[in-house]
Amino acid sequence: MSERPSLEEFTAAARAWLAERYPVAAADTGKRRFVWGEGSDEIRVFAEPDPSSEADAVDAIRAWRAGLWEAGYGWITGPTEYGGAGLPAAYQRAFEQVSRQFDVPGDASLTIGLGMIAPTILQHGTEEQKQRYLPALYRGEKIACQLFSEPGAGSDLASISTRAVRDGDVWRISGQKVWTSGAHLSDIGEIICRTSPEPRHKNLTAFLVDMHAPGVTVRPLRQMTGGAAFNEVFLDDVVVPDTDRLGEVGEGWTIAITTLANERNSLGSSSFGGVGILSTDRLAGLVRHQGLDDDPAVRQQFGEVVSHLRAARYVNEVVGAQARAGRPPGAEIGLSKIALSDNLRRLGDFVSELLGPEVAADTGEWGTYAWSSLVLGAPGFRLGGGTDEILKNTVAQRVLGLPRPS
Ligand SMILES: Cc1cc2nc3c(=O)[nH]c(=O)nc-3n(C[C@H](O)[C@H](O)[C@H](O)COP(=O)(O)OP(=O)(O)OC[C@H]3O[C@@H](n4cnc5c(N)ncnc54)[C@H](O)[C@@H]3O)c2cc1C
Repeated sequence: MSERPSLEEFTAAARAWLAERYPVAAADTGKRRFVWGEGSDEIRVFAEPDPSSEADAVDAIRAWRAGLWEAGYGWITGPTEYGGAGLPAAYQRAFEQVSRQFDVPGDASLTIGLGMIAPTILQHGTEEQKQRYLPALYRGEKIACQLFSEPGAGSDLASISTRAVRDGDVWRISGQKVWTSGAHLSDIGEIICRTSPEPRHKNLTAFLVDMHAPGVTVRPLRQMTGGAAFNEVFLDDVVVPDTDRLGEVGEGWTIAITTLANERNSLGSSSFGGVGILSTDRLAGLVRHQGLDDDPAVRQQFGEVVSHLRAARYVNEVVGAQARAGRPPGAEIGLSKIALSDNLRRLGDFVSELLGPEVAADTGEWGTYAWSSLVLGAPGFRLGGGTDEILKNTVAQRVLGLPRPS
């Protein structure tokens, strides 16, 4: 058994590996401070690549993951029996930190697979499923999506109506899912189906469905940001082998809760921030550019926004410290996500006031209309991964111990 490298050795080797393959990121070439008008002015809540360049971006991400896997950085904290490096979370954080200094493709289209589906398979999958899916997901060979929401079941997920009926060694799935992020790029989907007339929460089963199987139809949904990052998915008598059932029959609710907890963890984590969203330097740059830096009311609003961003960072640190201490994400993670969606709204309101009509009409001026993507994307963030209202209910009951309404 090879000896574990020290954190310093590991970080130095990772830096050398990255430096050999990727250019140093612009923010690390000496221009650390934000400079108005320099570089890209892109600000996005959700990754929404232009469809014409999306395939190239996905190829680059797959190649990045394949390279990471080969070098032993593909799943730093993962168990060695599934191809992981078996190292503590501090090594993963060190790798992320050093990779931010380079212009790497990142994991944009893999976040659901790596952040939500893979940990669920690790927790609930059979040995054969772990061997088959985990290396493929971390290597970037398979992209995964989350097939939970339906036209008649979002917050009340337990009332889904997509059915899976057993037929010998296989299951036949029929129904409709909606808001499925990245389904158009995915190879597999974690799906929750109704499998029996048992009482609520006991009548659901989870499966891993092949998104290329006959009977699966994916239709993109256009959002008000102009992008089409999520989809409707129709399932018409789709055959899924029983070996792709995730967990026991009737255990689908437990599996769904695991995936949702992982989702809140990845959405609320401090690594989130889309492109340029939470940069207070950029916000200060806009205030100055609009000639409002001496306006007392604007200064007060700016101070409020920045204080809320700081407070959210501290909440994230508390949640992060719990994760580092080895505790699985609990209901507290909802606080991080609520803080982030509140801050996106706050930022959107503030920049809309600063920009006036410029947030709605593109004058071609750097750093102005670009904020429209945040203003239009923020409402979606309040819904995805559990709406703010549902998360507040969860925090009230499970963190504060308030009684459930009778
Ligand atoms: C950007 C984005 C990405 C998404 N990606 C995925 C994905 O990949 N896979 C997937 O399966 N789903 C996805 N979703 C769907 C998301 O999970 C649902 O939108 C969410 O669960 C809410 O469901 P709904 O839209 O049906 O709203 P509803 O549940 O119909 O809620 C409507 C309104 O009523 C409120 N409400 C409902 N019940 C209560 C209650 N008990 N107490 C107080 N208020 C309540 C809600 O807060 C909301 O404001 C995504 C959504 C977004 C916006």
